[in-house]
Amino acid sequence: MKEKSYIAIVQCDIVKERCSGYRCEKAFFDRTDGFARYSKDMELRSIYMTCGGCCGRGIHRKLDELTRSIKEKEGIEKDQIAVHFSSCITKDNYHAPPCPHLDYLKTLVVDKLGLDLCEETSISNMSEKLRQKGIYAS
Ligand code: SF4
Ligand code: SF4
Repeated sequence: MKEKSYIAIVQCDIVKERCSGYRCEKAFFDRTDGFARYSKDMELRSIYMTCGGCCGRGIHRKLDELTRSIKEKEGIEKDQIAVHFSSCITKDNYHAPPCPHLDYLKTLVVDKLGLDLCEETSISNMSEKLRQKGIYAS
């Protein structure tokens, strides 16, 4: 994956009704969990958005607008952007099982928009323990 300069963090619209997204932001700031691949020394910007609600189709329009605008205003190309799906989209967790539209969301981001995708943001220690015990399925 080419070195990134811009991270788009996509969070579940339903979960965001009761989650501020703080743990995602903290993980990004600290470069832990899903963001451990990026050095703290890297100059890296981030933007947060929700999927737009089920079935997630809105994320195509949001990310398409982002890639066009950021290229026009700053010359940042698609391959400099990484999309991170929040862990509450991709993993069984306190809020709910993974998004039932996960494959569709991946198709929009990877196949339709041609963006690199990572499937983690913040990872809760408690959730990881419950995954290891098989209480959370994934
Ligand atoms: S991963 Fe955690 S902090 Fe991030 S949006 Fe989902 S529930 Fe909120
Ligand atoms: S499409 Fe998935 S990520 Fe988006 S609101 Fe529905 S369940 Fe959440």
